[in-house]
Amino acid sequence: MAFTNLPLIEPILKAVAHEGYTTPTPIQQQSIPLVLDGHDLLGCAQTGTGKTAAFSIPIIQLLASKKQFRPGIKALILTPTRELAIQIDESLAAYGRFTKIRHTVIFGGVSQLHQTNALKRGVDILVATPGRLLDLINQKFVDLRNLEIFVLDEADRMLDMGFIHDVKKLIKIIPQKRQTLFFSATMPPEIQKLADSLLHQPKYVEV
Ligand code: AMP
Repeated sequence: MAFTNLPLIEPILKAVAHEGYTTPTPIQQQSIPLVLDGHDLLGCAQTGTGKTAAFSIPIIQLLASKKQFRPGIKALILTPTRELAIQIDESLAAYGRFTKIRHTVIFGGVSQLHQTNALKRGVDILVATPGRLLDLINQKFVDLRNLEIFVLDEADRMLDMGFIHDVKKLIKIIPQKRQTLFFSATMPPEIQKLADSLLHQPKYVEV
């Protein structure tokens, strides 16, 4: 199976080739068509499986294919650490390099000025860690009213790192009508319960 066998648009195929990828990984083969079809997803996958591209590529395509482009943040990717957030943002840059999709990343522990300037310029896809996101929402730098796609990445690590309360707060803020992609390496009962509360008739993918 090649990337060209997936229902991907030319700018994405070009970007994937630019990265030197020839074959989609198993999670990419399973996830990309499902996300493009608008399904919610429950993915059981570790880092290193190609998980980031499995959600980034179809999100970029869904947004880039729209004729009517609404302003504001349309996709939010929530991840537990600064390192993961930066990696995801770099992936969006790579896979979106031949599209007009705008993305940025916000995380704590650094000055917010650079981040709020990027937000003011306009963002289609936001990558964030939970604490800084809540902080910038409270300061009105982030508006999630037009959100269409929500990704919860590494849900089990969110729990381990004590972010589950922040995650639950954020879920109350984002629109109920949305597509949700939920990834976790393990599925302890508390994470299964969270997944059940967030997902609507999800498709299950496992690698
Ligand atoms: P991830 O699991 O998303 O952290 O990805 C792990 C690594 O695999 C990253 O360095 C990606 O650049 C790389 N990668 C992702 N998808 C592919 C692919 N289809 N072919 C080759 N490398 C890939």
